[in-house]
Amino acid sequence: MNLALLFEEDFVTTDRAVLSGRRLTHLHEVLKVSEGDLIPVGRVNGDIGTGRVVSLTDARADIVVDLAAPPPPPLPLTLFLAMPRPKMFRRVLQTCATLGVKDIWLINSYKVEKSFWQTPWLSEDNLRENMTLGLEQARDTIMPEVHVRKLFKPFVEDELPALLRDKRALVAHPGTATPCPMHLDLPTALCVGPEGGFTPYEVGKLEEAGCESVHLGPRILRVETAVPVLVSRLFDACR
Ligand code: SAH
Repeated sequence: MNLALLFEEDFVTTDRAVLSGRRLTHLHEVLKVSEGDLIPVGRVNGDIGTGRVVSLTDARADIVVDLAAPPPPPLPLTLFLAMPRPKMFRRVLQTCATLGVKDIWLINSYKVEKSFWQTPWLSEDNLRENMTLGLEQARDTIMPEVHVRKLFKPFVEDELPALLRDKRALVAHPGTATPCPMHLDLPTALCVGPEGGFTPYEVGKLEEAGCESVHLGPRILRVETAVPVLVSRLFDACR
């Protein structure tokens, strides 16, 4: 937790917040803070800054916050991700939040098992909790939006073309002819397949909707590896 992300319900006055639960445990056990210390904090969907610990017990930490700096810039990326298996989904979601992806569409695909959609990780609370962990890692505050589309064909035919408008649209697919582009600064849409890959039919439909197939070389990467590799290849995070 490189930043404690504060929600409306954490604030008791405009500049005073109370931490408990996971974030309090972190203050005690990892950061080992004392009263008077400053910790990095941010307000969800707002600015980042510092919090002075004015009172600390086993049950709560009271902090007075001073928020003045903007969070890091978001990626100009809309990510369409074939729903991964639950354990990987949780990790990928955290990673997406850490990398600055703000628009995530979980889509169906032939090789997505039906049971993946039943995961409790898709509940509102769990989505928020895992994205919070990812944001806190990156000292970001802007909560990504997650959209769920459980039917591939209607989504790709009826919704996707409009979502791709004015964007460079790509589908990552091993074995295609075109290498993944680099140094994109412009709005980009990226489709990433399931563990078993998109089927040729699905790649055809994504191409019809406006996506260009691109590859990352001969090594097949797990989804949780492919996402950060694609993001770091497409965008210049170090500028
Ligand atoms: N067995 C599948 C690979 C699935 S890997 C196949 O051979 O097609 C899961 C997803 O990660 C892929 O659908 C793709 O979107 C992305 N991916 C992994 N490695 C890749 C590579 N070398 N090039 C392009 N995309 C890749």
